[in-house]
Amino acid sequence: MKAIAVKPGTPGTVHLTELEKPKIGDVDSGRGVLVQVLQCGVDGTDKEINDAEYGNAPPGHDFLVIGHENFGRVIEVGPNVTELRPGDLVTATVRRPGKSFYDDIGYCDMTTEDTYYERGINLLHGFLTEYIVEDVQYLVKVPTLLEHVGVLMEPMSVVEKGVTQAYEIQRRLKIWRPKKALVTGSGAIGQLATLVFRLRGLDVTTVARSPKPNKKAELIDELDAHYASSSDKSVLEVGNEYGPFDIVFEATGSSKVAFESMEVLEKNGILILNSITGGANTNEVPTDKINMDFVLHNKAMFGTVNANREAYETAVKDFTHAEMAYEGWLSKLLTHPIDGLDNFIQMMDTLVNDRSALKVYVNIAK
Ligand code: BGC
Ligand code: ZN
Repeated sequence: MKAIAVKPGTPGTVHLTELEKPKIGDVDSGRGVLVQVLQCGVDGTDKEINDAEYGNAPPGHDFLVIGHENFGRVIEVGPNVTELRPGDLVTATVRRPGKSFYDDIGYCDMTTEDTYYERGINLLHGFLTEYIVEDVQYLVKVPTLLEHVGVLMEPMSVVEKGVTQAYEIQRRLKIWRPKKALVTGSGAIGQLATLVFRLRGLDVTTVARSPKPNKKAELIDELDAHYASSSDKSVLEVGNEYGPFDIVFEATGSSKVAFESMEVLEKNGILILNSITGGANTNEVPTDKINMDFVLHNKAMFGTVNANREAYETAVKDFTHAEMAYEGWLSKLLTHPIDGLDNFIQMMDTLVNDRSALKVYVNIAK
Protein backbone atom coordinates (compact mmCIF):
# COMPACT_ATOMS: atom_id res chain seq x y z
CA MET A 1 0.00 0.00 0.00
CA LYS A 2 1.03 3.61 -0.59
CA ALA A 3 2.30 6.03 2.06
CA ILE A 4 3.74 9.55 2.14
CA ALA A 5 7.07 9.71 3.96
CA VAL A 6 10.09 11.91 4.60
CA LYS A 7 13.71 11.26 5.57
CA PRO A 8 14.00 13.05 8.93
CA GLY A 9 17.22 15.03 9.16
CA THR A 10 17.35 15.84 5.42
CA PRO A 11 15.24 18.82 4.27
CA GLY A 12 12.72 18.50 1.42
CA THR A 13 12.52 14.71 1.16
CA VAL A 14 8.75 14.19 1.00
CA HIS A 15 8.11 11.16 -1.21
CA LEU A 16 5.74 8.29 -1.93
CA THR A 17 6.69 4.88 -0.56
CA GLU A 18 5.27 1.36 -0.39
CA LEU A 19 4.42 -0.36 2.90
CA GLU A 20 3.08 -3.79 3.67
CA LYS A 21 -0.61 -3.69 4.60
CA PRO A 22 -0.93 -4.21 8.40
CA LYS A 23 -3.03 -6.99 9.97
CA ILE A 24 -5.16 -7.01 13.15
CA GLY A 25 -2.87 -9.78 14.44
CA ASP A 26 -0.07 -7.17 14.65
CA VAL A 27 -1.61 -6.25 18.05
CA ASP A 28 -1.21 -9.43 20.12
CA SER A 29 -3.87 -8.76 22.79
CA GLY A 30 -6.61 -9.54 20.25
CA ARG A 31 -7.61 -5.85 20.60
CA GLY A 32 -6.29 -4.76 17.19
CA VAL A 33 -8.49 -2.84 14.76
CA LEU A 34 -7.88 -2.49 11.02
CA VAL A 35 -8.84 0.98 9.85
CA GLN A 36 -9.04 2.25 6.29
CA VAL A 37 -7.79 5.81 6.28
CA LEU A 38 -10.38 8.01 4.53
CA GLN A 39 -8.79 11.44 5.00
CA CYS A 40 -5.67 12.85 6.58
CA GLY A 41 -4.95 16.54 7.21
CA VAL A 42 -1.54 18.23 7.35
CA ASP A 43 -0.32 21.25 9.33
CA GLY A 44 2.74 23.29 10.28
CA THR A 45 4.23 20.29 12.08
CA ASP A 46 4.32 18.28 8.82
CA LYS A 47 6.00 21.22 7.12
CA GLU A 48 8.62 21.44 9.88
CA ILE A 49 9.26 17.70 9.64
CA ASN A 50 9.81 17.99 5.87
CA ASP A 51 12.13 20.94 6.56
CA ALA A 52 14.12 18.60 8.89
CA GLU A 53 13.49 20.94 11.84
CA TYR A 54 11.47 18.43 13.81
CA GLY A 55 10.53 14.74 14.03
CA ASN A 56 12.35 11.41 14.02
CA ALA A 57 12.03 8.11 12.15
CA PRO A 58 11.05 4.94 14.02
CA PRO A 59 14.06 2.96 15.29
CA GLY A 60 15.54 0.82 12.48
CA HIS A 61 13.90 2.94 9.74
CA ASP A 62 15.44 5.74 7.69
CA PHE A 63 12.02 7.19 6.79
CA LEU A 64 8.97 8.44 8.68
CA VAL A 65 5.43 8.17 7.32
CA ILE A 66 3.95 11.60 8.12
CA GLY A 67 0.37 12.74 8.83
CA HIS A 68 -1.27 12.81 12.27
CA GLU A 69 -4.72 14.40 11.61
CA ASN A 70 -6.48 11.18 10.66
CA PHE A 71 -10.01 9.99 10.01
CA GLY A 72 -11.01 6.48 8.93
CA ARG A 73 -13.44 3.57 8.83
CA VAL A 74 -13.16 0.31 10.77
CA ILE A 75 -12.73 -2.66 8.43
CA GLU A 76 -12.03 -5.54 10.82
CA VAL A 77 -11.73 -5.97 14.59
CA GLY A 78 -9.77 -8.45 16.72
CA PRO A 79 -11.54 -11.13 18.82
CA ASN A 80 -11.35 -9.12 22.06
CA VAL A 81 -12.71 -5.85 20.70
CA THR A 82 -16.19 -4.98 21.99
CA GLU A 83 -16.12 -1.19 21.61
CA LEU A 84 -16.11 -0.92 17.81
CA ARG A 85 -17.41 -2.84 14.83
CA PRO A 86 -16.76 -2.81 11.09
CA GLY A 87 -18.23 0.29 9.45
CA ASP A 88 -17.70 2.54 12.49
CA LEU A 89 -15.98 5.88 11.83
CA VAL A 90 -12.97 6.63 13.99
CA THR A 91 -10.01 8.88 14.61
CA ALA A 92 -6.81 7.62 16.22
CA THR A 93 -5.10 9.66 18.94
CA VAL A 94 -1.54 10.76 18.13
CA ARG A 95 0.63 10.13 21.17
CA ARG A 96 1.51 6.68 22.53
CA PRO A 97 2.68 5.93 26.07
CA GLY A 98 6.25 6.01 27.27
CA LYS A 99 7.23 4.95 30.77
CA SER A 100 6.32 7.74 33.18
CA PHE A 101 3.52 7.59 35.74
CA TYR A 102 1.33 9.80 33.52
CA ASP A 103 1.85 7.42 30.60
CA ASP A 104 0.68 4.51 32.79
CA ILE A 105 -2.61 6.18 33.71
CA GLY A 106 -3.64 7.18 30.18
CA TYR A 107 -2.21 10.71 30.14
CA CYS A 108 0.76 10.31 27.81
CA ASP A 109 0.08 13.91 26.71
CA MET A 110 1.43 14.81 30.19
CA THR A 111 4.49 12.55 30.06
CA THR A 112 7.49 13.56 32.17
CA GLU A 113 9.88 11.62 29.93
CA ASP A 114 12.21 13.44 27.53
CA THR A 115 11.17 11.12 24.72
CA TYR A 116 7.60 11.17 23.52
CA TYR A 117 6.08 8.92 20.88
CA GLU A 118 3.75 10.52 18.34
CA ARG A 119 2.38 8.82 15.24
CA GLY A 120 3.47 10.70 12.13
CA ILE A 121 5.76 13.00 14.13
CA ASN A 122 8.18 11.32 16.46
CA LEU A 123 9.46 7.71 16.38
CA LEU A 124 6.22 6.17 15.04
CA HIS A 125 4.81 6.08 11.51
CA GLY A 126 1.77 8.23 10.80
CA PHE A 127 -1.48 8.10 8.92
CA LEU A 128 -0.81 9.35 5.38
CA THR A 129 -1.31 5.83 4.11
CA GLU A 130 -4.15 3.49 3.11
CA TYR A 131 -4.62 1.26 6.16
CA ILE A 132 -3.51 1.28 9.77
CA VAL A 133 -3.83 -1.15 12.65
CA GLU A 134 -4.35 0.27 16.12
CA ASP A 135 -5.05 -1.04 19.56
CA VAL A 136 -8.72 -0.14 20.15
CA GLN A 137 -7.78 1.91 23.23
CA TYR A 138 -6.30 4.58 20.91
CA LEU A 139 -9.37 4.90 18.68
CA VAL A 140 -12.18 7.36 19.28
CA LYS A 141 -15.55 6.79 17.62
CA VAL A 142 -16.84 9.64 15.46
CA PRO A 143 -20.63 9.81 14.96
CA THR A 144 -21.83 9.48 11.33
CA LEU A 145 -23.37 12.93 11.75
CA LEU A 146 -19.81 14.34 11.85
CA GLU A 147 -18.43 12.31 8.93
CA HIS A 148 -17.83 15.43 6.80
CA VAL A 149 -15.62 17.05 9.47
CA GLY A 150 -14.00 13.97 11.05
CA VAL A 151 -10.59 15.01 9.71
CA LEU A 152 -10.73 18.08 12.00
CA MET A 153 -10.99 15.98 15.17
CA GLU A 154 -7.27 16.01 15.99
CA PRO A 155 -6.71 19.80 15.81
CA MET A 156 -9.95 20.26 17.79
CA SER A 157 -8.67 17.84 20.47
CA VAL A 158 -5.57 20.02 20.92
CA VAL A 159 -7.78 23.09 21.50
CA GLU A 160 -10.11 21.21 23.87
CA LYS A 161 -7.23 19.98 25.99
CA GLY A 162 -5.89 23.52 26.39
CA VAL A 163 -9.27 25.02 27.26
CA THR A 164 -10.20 22.21 29.68
CA GLN A 165 -6.89 22.59 31.47
CA ALA A 166 -7.38 26.35 31.75
CA TYR A 167 -10.81 25.90 33.36
CA GLU A 168 -9.33 23.25 35.69
CA ILE A 169 -6.60 25.67 36.79
CA GLN A 170 -9.16 28.44 37.28
CA ARG A 171 -11.02 26.34 39.83
CA ARG A 172 -8.50 28.04 42.13
CA LEU A 173 -10.89 31.03 41.94
CA LYS A 174 -13.96 29.03 43.08
CA ILE A 175 -16.43 31.23 41.15
CA TRP A 176 -14.54 32.25 38.03
CA ARG A 177 -16.91 33.74 35.44
CA PRO A 178 -14.88 34.55 32.31
CA LYS A 179 -16.50 37.04 29.93
CA LYS A 180 -13.89 38.04 27.38
CA ALA A 181 -11.51 35.82 25.42
CA LEU A 182 -8.67 36.56 23.03
CA VAL A 183 -7.41 34.15 20.40
CA THR A 184 -4.15 34.97 18.64
CA GLY A 185 -3.92 33.41 15.18
CA SER A 186 -6.67 32.62 12.67
CA GLY A 187 -5.36 29.35 11.23
CA ALA A 188 -7.20 26.09 11.94
CA ILE A 189 -6.30 26.12 15.66
CA GLY A 190 -7.20 29.82 16.04
CA GLN A 191 -10.53 29.26 14.28
CA LEU A 192 -11.37 26.23 16.44
CA ALA A 193 -10.35 28.03 19.65
CA THR A 194 -12.64 30.93 18.66
CA LEU A 195 -15.45 28.40 18.14
CA VAL A 196 -14.87 26.70 21.51
CA PHE A 197 -14.97 30.04 23.37
CA ARG A 198 -18.08 31.16 21.50
CA LEU A 199 -19.82 27.86 22.35
CA ARG A 200 -19.04 28.67 25.99
CA GLY A 201 -20.73 32.05 25.59
CA LEU A 202 -17.65 34.29 25.72
CA ASP A 203 -17.17 37.58 23.90
CA VAL A 204 -14.24 36.65 21.64
CA THR A 205 -11.65 38.73 19.79
CA THR A 206 -9.38 36.99 17.32
CA VAL A 207 -6.24 38.77 16.21
CA ALA A 208 -4.24 37.70 13.15
CA ARG A 209 -1.89 39.15 10.56
CA SER A 210 -4.02 39.65 7.44
CA PRO A 211 -6.01 42.86 7.14
CA LYS A 212 -9.74 42.62 6.42
CA PRO A 213 -11.38 41.60 4.17
CA ASN A 214 -10.13 38.03 3.98
CA LYS A 215 -11.57 34.51 4.20
CA LYS A 216 -10.28 33.81 7.71
CA ALA A 217 -11.76 37.08 9.03
CA GLU A 218 -15.11 36.21 7.41
CA LEU A 219 -15.19 32.90 9.29
CA ILE A 220 -14.49 34.72 12.56
CA ASP A 221 -17.33 37.16 11.73
CA GLU A 222 -19.68 34.22 11.16
CA LEU A 223 -19.05 33.15 14.76
CA ASP A 224 -20.01 36.65 15.92
CA ALA A 225 -16.50 37.22 17.22
CA HIS A 226 -14.39 40.36 16.58
CA TYR A 227 -11.51 40.12 14.12
CA ALA A 228 -8.55 42.47 14.54
CA SER A 229 -5.55 42.63 12.24
CA SER A 230 -2.08 42.89 13.78
CA SER A 231 -0.99 44.76 10.66
CA ASP A 232 -2.89 47.84 11.92
CA LYS A 233 -2.73 47.23 15.70
CA SER A 234 -0.35 45.70 18.22
CA VAL A 235 -1.69 43.03 20.59
CA LEU A 236 -1.51 45.69 23.31
CA GLU A 237 -3.73 48.03 21.27
CA VAL A 238 -6.17 45.18 20.62
CA GLY A 239 -6.22 44.66 24.40
CA ASN A 240 -7.03 48.34 24.97
CA GLU A 241 -9.85 48.24 22.47
CA TYR A 242 -11.52 44.88 23.21
CA GLY A 243 -9.90 43.60 26.42
CA PRO A 244 -8.61 42.99 28.98
CA PHE A 245 -9.22 39.26 28.51
CA ASP A 246 -10.09 36.68 31.12
CA ILE A 247 -8.66 33.92 28.94
CA VAL A 248 -6.24 33.96 26.01
CA PHE A 249 -5.46 31.12 23.58
CA GLU A 250 -2.13 31.73 21.82
CA ALA A 251 -1.96 29.97 18.45
CA THR A 252 0.20 32.06 16.11
CA GLY A 253 3.41 30.04 16.11
CA SER A 254 5.23 33.21 17.20
CA SER A 255 6.89 33.44 20.63
CA LYS A 256 6.90 37.23 20.26
CA VAL A 257 3.09 37.27 20.14
CA ALA A 258 3.00 34.78 23.03
CA PHE A 259 4.90 37.27 25.22
CA GLU A 260 2.80 40.22 24.01
CA SER A 261 -0.31 38.26 25.05
CA MET A 262 0.93 38.31 28.63
CA GLU A 263 0.16 42.02 28.74
CA VAL A 264 -3.54 41.91 27.86
CA LEU A 265 -4.85 39.59 30.58
CA GLU A 266 -7.62 40.64 32.95
CA LYS A 267 -6.98 40.35 36.71
CA ASN A 268 -7.06 36.64 37.73
CA GLY A 269 -6.87 35.81 34.00
CA ILE A 270 -5.19 32.86 32.33
CA LEU A 271 -3.02 32.49 29.22
CA ILE A 272 -2.87 29.23 27.27
CA LEU A 273 0.40 28.78 25.33
CA ASN A 274 0.11 26.34 22.43
CA SER A 275 2.58 27.44 19.72
CA ILE A 276 5.42 25.11 18.78
CA THR A 277 8.25 27.61 18.13
CA GLY A 278 11.11 25.62 16.68
CA GLY A 279 13.34 28.63 15.91
CA ALA A 280 15.92 30.50 17.97
CA ASN A 281 14.34 33.98 18.03
CA THR A 282 15.02 36.40 20.87
CA ASN A 283 12.97 39.51 21.71
CA GLU A 284 13.15 42.41 24.12
CA VAL A 285 10.37 42.08 26.73
CA PRO A 286 9.29 44.46 29.58
CA THR A 287 10.01 41.82 32.24
CA ASP A 288 9.51 44.01 35.36
CA LYS A 289 6.14 45.20 34.15
CA ILE A 290 4.88 41.74 33.19
CA ASN A 291 6.16 40.09 36.34
CA MET A 292 4.69 42.75 38.61
CA ASP A 293 1.35 42.55 36.85
CA PHE A 294 1.19 38.75 37.17
CA VAL A 295 2.04 38.94 40.86
CA LEU A 296 -0.26 41.80 41.84
CA HIS A 297 -3.24 40.40 39.93
CA ASN A 298 -2.94 36.65 40.47
CA LYS A 299 -2.56 35.88 36.77
CA ALA A 300 -1.64 32.45 35.42
CA MET A 301 -0.19 30.98 32.24
CA PHE A 302 0.68 27.46 31.18
CA GLY A 303 1.79 25.43 28.17
CA THR A 304 -0.23 22.65 26.59
CA VAL A 305 0.65 20.02 24.01
CA ASN A 306 -1.18 17.16 22.33
CA ALA A 307 -4.42 15.78 23.80
CA ASN A 308 -5.80 12.93 25.84
CA ARG A 309 -8.79 10.75 25.04
CA GLU A 310 -11.22 12.93 27.01
CA ALA A 311 -10.23 15.94 24.91
CA TYR A 312 -11.27 13.98 21.78
CA GLU A 313 -14.57 13.12 23.42
CA THR A 314 -15.16 16.79 24.26
CA ALA A 315 -14.27 17.59 20.63
CA VAL A 316 -17.02 15.22 19.43
CA LYS A 317 -19.55 16.95 21.73
CA ASP A 318 -18.52 20.46 20.70
CA PHE A 319 -18.59 19.58 16.99
CA THR A 320 -22.13 18.28 17.45
CA HIS A 321 -23.05 21.50 19.27
CA ALA A 322 -21.32 23.58 16.57
CA GLU A 323 -23.29 21.91 13.79
CA MET A 324 -26.44 23.16 15.49
CA ALA A 325 -25.26 26.59 16.65
CA TYR A 326 -23.25 27.50 13.52
CA GLU A 327 -24.62 25.18 10.86
CA GLY A 328 -22.17 24.49 8.02
CA TRP A 329 -19.38 26.58 9.55
CA LEU A 330 -17.00 23.70 10.33
CA SER A 331 -16.99 22.44 6.73
CA LYS A 332 -15.78 25.85 5.58
CA LEU A 333 -12.44 25.18 7.33
CA LEU A 334 -11.80 22.35 4.85
CA THR A 335 -10.47 24.70 2.19
CA HIS A 336 -7.82 22.69 0.30
CA PRO A 337 -8.58 19.04 -0.55
CA ILE A 338 -5.87 17.02 -2.29
CA ASP A 339 -6.98 14.13 -4.47
CA GLY A 340 -5.12 10.99 -3.34
CA LEU A 341 -1.71 10.12 -1.90
CA ASP A 342 -0.09 10.33 -5.38
CA ASN A 343 -0.45 14.12 -5.22
CA PHE A 344 1.99 14.47 -2.32
CA ILE A 345 3.96 17.22 -4.09
CA GLN A 346 0.82 19.32 -4.49
CA MET A 347 -0.01 18.60 -0.82
CA MET A 348 3.31 19.93 0.47
CA ASP A 349 3.36 22.80 -2.01
CA THR A 350 -0.13 23.97 -0.94
CA LEU A 351 0.79 23.61 2.72
CA VAL A 352 3.97 25.67 2.35
CA ASN A 353 2.94 28.29 -0.21
CA ASP A 354 -0.80 28.89 -0.13
CA ARG A 355 -1.40 31.49 2.57
CA SER A 356 -5.16 31.26 2.05
CA ALA A 357 -5.20 27.55 3.03
CA LEU A 358 -6.93 26.93 6.32
CA LYS A 359 -6.79 23.17 6.13
CA VAL A 360 -4.95 21.11 3.53
CA TYR A 361 -6.05 17.46 3.62
CA VAL A 362 -5.77 14.39 1.45
CA ASN A 363 -8.83 12.44 0.34
CA ILE A 364 -7.45 8.90 0.46
CA ALA A 365 -10.57 6.72 0.17
CA LYS A 366 -14.36 7.17 0.11
C1 BGC B 1 0.12 17.92 16.88
C2 BGC B 1 0.12 17.44 18.30
C3 BGC B 1 1.54 17.21 18.77
C4 BGC B 1 2.37 18.46 18.55
C5 BGC B 1 3.84 18.31 18.98
C6 BGC B 1 1.01 19.12 16.73
O1 BGC B 1 1.04 19.49 15.38
O2 BGC B 1 -1.17 18.26 16.44
O3 BGC B 1 -0.64 16.24 18.39
O4 BGC B 1 1.58 16.83 20.12
O5 BGC B 1 2.33 18.83 17.19
O6 BGC B 1 4.53 17.32 18.29
ZN1 ZN C 1 -0.84 19.00 14.41
